[in-house]
Amino acid sequence: MLEYEATDREDVDVLVTGGTVVTMDGDRNVYQDGAVAMKGDEIVYVGTAEEARTLYDAKEDVDASGKIVMPGLVNAHTHAAMSVYRGMADDLPLMEWLQDYIFPAEAKNTNADMVYHGTKLACAEMIKGGTTTFCDMYYFEDQAAKATKEAGMRAVLGETVLDFPSPDSVDPAGGIKYAETFIKDWKGDDLITPAVAPHAPYTVGPQSLKAAKDLADKEGVPYIIHLSETQSEVEQIKEKHGKTPTEYLNSLGILGDNVVAAHCVWLTENEKDLLVNTGTGIAHNPESNMKLASGVAPIPDLMDKGGYVGLGTDGAASNNDLDMFGEMDTTAKLHKIHSMDCTAMPAQRVVEMATIGGAQALHMEDKIGSLETGKKADLIVIGTDSANMTPMYNVYSHIVYAADHNDVETSIINGQVVMRDREILTMNEDAVKAKGREIAEHVAESLREEPDGSS
Ligand SMILES: [Zn+2]
Repeated sequence: MLEYEATDREDVDVLVTGGTVVTMDGDRNVYQDGAVAMKGDEIVYVGTAEEARTLYDAKEDVDASGKIVMPGLVNAHTHAAMSVYRGMADDLPLMEWLQDYIFPAEAKNTNADMVYHGTKLACAEMIKGGTTTFCDMYYFEDQAAKATKEAGMRAVLGETVLDFPSPDSVDPAGGIKYAETFIKDWKGDDLITPAVAPHAPYTVGPQSLKAAKDLADKEGVPYIIHLSETQSEVEQIKEKHGKTPTEYLNSLGILGDNVVAAHCVWLTENEKDLLVNTGTGIAHNPESNMKLASGVAPIPDLMDKGGYVGLGTDGAASNNDLDMFGEMDTTAKLHKIHSMDCTAMPAQRVVEMATIGGAQALHMEDKIGSLETGKKADLIVIGTDSANMTPMYNVYSHIVYAADHNDVETSIINGQVVMRDREILTMNEDAVKAKGREIAEHVAESLREEPDGSS
């Protein structure tokens, strides 16, 4: 009888049981003593542990009793490889930080090797902090793709296009060509979505902005861009093109449901409507915007209008970490104090932004962002044993205000357990960190050199 029952149950690969399962599905269902079953790269069941035990036999069991189970976090905007520039230049406004420090350091140090190892370091930090998908914008994205794939993470990786020489291209045509090759090489991968990423309206001219859009449309891949990050950008674009940045992009036919626009801080009412009505994804980066004193993005407005808003950390050079728990906490508090209204950004809304909202911003909501049957098997298990998590009344409040990235215990991406009990299984974390420190020594050295190369 027992044997008959055992064979009657369906075989699955991973079964997570127990704990509070926060699904982020359309009804925002939360299961106490819940369960998630995964087969291959897909979720095949979300419900109660009691029912799941009668239905499934698993190759790998994850006991989440007393813990929180939720969709993996989506970091909607970052520059992963810049982790090796963490803390290199701080306390400066964006234009000075970028022109006087970041671009010169990148000219000397950003190469294929740096991008590979820098991205690996970023993946280590993100996996340990509960991120399962990230959206990247940098150079040598083929190397970022290799590192990300080895780490077992999911990502949208945008190859940067600029109108001046960049670390991997001497001119914009070269950038587009690099992106084209990268897209062709990686399109259709189960973890990596290749993309093209013109840096911003103030660093890329209309011709290249449009050429990149044509490439994204032709290949059916995302188009990633920084937009309306600072007031000085708005002034520059108005002076040059007679329009605000979002209106300018709209006039070029760029906005749309394959676009991810990062920052969107300085927007008129018309620009908010343009972003929302065109289905353009919006990546909110509050800590970077605060640190560079760029401003406060009108996120509650954009969400009220039905915009696709995700949450991002931006790069580690402007944050200075890739911690989505810190970012969630900041987001809730920033919008409350900015509006002097403590209801402006409730905890649940912030969790939405970090999960399903991020999936929508990246135009991947049919695949990720919630725990639902048929979606990709991306989830995290958060421990509740730490003093900072004790006791627990409301799970959304806990995720946003009490949880620390160190509370993330287990991470599953595309059905693969990539971290178990805080040990990353897809890489040697110590070796990855050592390589990051080694690269930083070269970076520090290069910054001491004169521009002509002499020291
Ligand atoms: Zn950025």
